[in-house]
Amino acid sequence: MSYPSLLHGEARLRRITELLWAEYGDGSHHERTRLRRDPLASLIKTILSQNTSDVNSDRAFANLTEAFPTWQAVMEAPEGDVADAIRAGGLANIKAPRIQALLRSVKAAHGALDLSDLSRMDPGEAREYLESFHGVGRKTAACVLLFALQQPVFPVDTHCLRIGKRLRLLAPSCSADAAHEVFDRVVPDECKLELHVSMVRHGRARCRPSKPDCDGCPVARFCAYPEITG
Ligand code: SF4
Repeated sequence: MSYPSLLHGEARLRRITELLWAEYGDGSHHERTRLRRDPLASLIKTILSQNTSDVNSDRAFANLTEAFPTWQAVMEAPEGDVADAIRAGGLANIKAPRIQALLRSVKAAHGALDLSDLSRMDPGEAREYLESFHGVGRKTAACVLLFALQQPVFPVDTHCLRIGKRLRLLAPSCSADAAHEVFDRVVPDECKLELHVSMVRHGRARCRPSKPDCDGCPVARFCAYPEITG
């Protein structure tokens, strides 16, 4: 059963973040550090995650880094070998040339396979730069900015969009693009990483697209799902 929350605005968002992070964060100070990634690895990992499940994209990334010891080796390998390595992630024949073209662009622009220069750009400029690569959209750029560069942006994946609507943080008809604008604006900067990570874990574990497991949900009191579904 859900009932109206007495909290509004920022206080409500902070409480939702606290409750979800208490359930899904590992409770240690190391979690933030563990979630950090090298910007280039983060970019490739998020390209691999497009249009597939988390399990499959994790496997594809692991297979890719196992098959090729360096990003230079990935860039120089025959396209078919890269596609074979990432086959588990789906759309391998599209993602392999995309990743290799990205690596060539990075090498040409930076003289090395390294995107750490992005940390010296402001978030808007870095986002625009990342989105200039073919196949890199708003969510992918936001993941790199949040995880690798510790910028206060909020990536919106399908879990965040669905849960944001169920928790009445987003309007029912809100698009993913509009949701990026909303979350960037309303989620306090220091909550962005925890809320994003918690929402993804909550979506995988419990708040599934159909038949969510609502019994014992830590944020049920804020949820409109029973009303949405009647
Ligand atoms: S698990 Fe159920 S109660 Fe919890 S947020 Fe999802 S739909 Fe709402």
